[in-house]
Amino acid sequence: MTRRTLDQSSKLRNVLYEIRGKALIEAARLESEGHQILKLNTGNPATFGFEAPHQIVRDMLAALPTAHGYSESKGVITARRAVVSRYEEIDGFPRFDPDDVFLGNGVSELITMVMQALLDEGDEVLIPAPDYPLWTAMTSLAGGTPVHYLCDEQNGWQPDLEDIRSKVTPRTKAIVVINPNNPTGAVYSREVLEGIVQIARENDLLLLSDEIYDRILFDEATHIPTATLAPDLLCLTFNGLSKTYRVAGYRSGWVVITGPTSHARGFLEGITLLASTRLCPNVPAQYAVQAALGGVQSIDSLSAPTGRLHEQRDIAWRGLEAIPGVSCVKPAGALYAFPRLDPEVHEIRDDEKLVYDLLVSEKILLVQGTGFNWATPDHLRVVTLPEARVLSEAVERLGNFLASYRQ
Ligand code: PLP
Repeated sequence: MTRRTLDQSSKLRNVLYEIRGKALIEAARLESEGHQILKLNTGNPATFGFEAPHQIVRDMLAALPTAHGYSESKGVITARRAVVSRYEEIDGFPRFDPDDVFLGNGVSELITMVMQALLDEGDEVLIPAPDYPLWTAMTSLAGGTPVHYLCDEQNGWQPDLEDIRSKVTPRTKAIVVINPNNPTGAVYSREVLEGIVQIARENDLLLLSDEIYDRILFDEATHIPTATLAPDLLCLTFNGLSKTYRVAGYRSGWVVITGPTSHARGFLEGITLLASTRLCPNVPAQYAVQAALGGVQSIDSLSAPTGRLHEQRDIAWRGLEAIPGVSCVKPAGALYAFPRLDPEVHEIRDDEKLVYDLLVSEKILLVQGTGFNWATPDHLRVVTLPEARVLSEAVERLGNFLASYRQ
């Protein structure tokens, strides 16, 4: 019997996620040969000695004996109430109640559900370039068209409002804001956020604000939640425990819905429907939410001027800036640096190959800028999670590698 070839579905044609891309296969092969690979491709705090806060672990363990059943699809009420209380503490955040909260298996699942509930074939979504690529991938998977707006490296990677305006069409349904930003580390100014909100207001766009790094801020940076500037607009704010609370493996996130909803009943019912088709998020991890939001403060000391994340951000940034032909906007938040390789010095035609060659030569795994929907092969993303010594050695080795690398 000849078997029918099983290809991946055509729906996946434009679905890319290079953070866990082909280079990982080569990394696994090198590891199987006994090499140690420094994996700077994912923002996974646990792999760099960041322990889970013990209150979170304790509460989850305590809940375990009674957390073996399905929960409500939106998530357990105590966790959703804790999410409500968290935002009540933020000045100007529009009021909402536990019914306006969906818990998910990480923000990732919620992004997927929201895009599936929102988009029809050809609907356009404005997404930053560079972006956290799941937004582009899930827009495509849902049949929508990602339209990338530029973030301006010359202006600290702030979104370019003129570019956004010029890309709005009658098919544009939503605009994605990622603040603090992955991969650039930019934290958006009030002026820029007000500009984005105004564009959404004038063009009747849904606001989708990914704020998973809202408490990982350096120097004088302050985070302004998009919803605080848009009480008159429907805004979905995404956040979770993976970064601030260092428990990425628990897969625990939430989305909160604020602003007017009467015009969006169908869309919100769609999210409810999809939430029920996945039954519920992982229940033990939902019990981590209340513990985390109820007072785990240790992340603040990590990103404080004397804290580990702050020191590592400085080391990565200074080390990258010291490499000839490399410049880097100083990250104001999040866990990444996004250096630029001057094309006149480094002439990279294929940044995926650069990442592959770096891996084979130096046993360091980065992600190429084009993996974040950046159009030209002249950036890399570096995760700033490793402790100071490891990080400075990695950056130094990157510099030595680039000094003789030609394509
Ligand atoms: N959004 C951004 C901007 C991210 O960087 C990440 C993970 O790196 C996610 C969402 C996904 O997070 P989660 O672990 O909650 O699925």
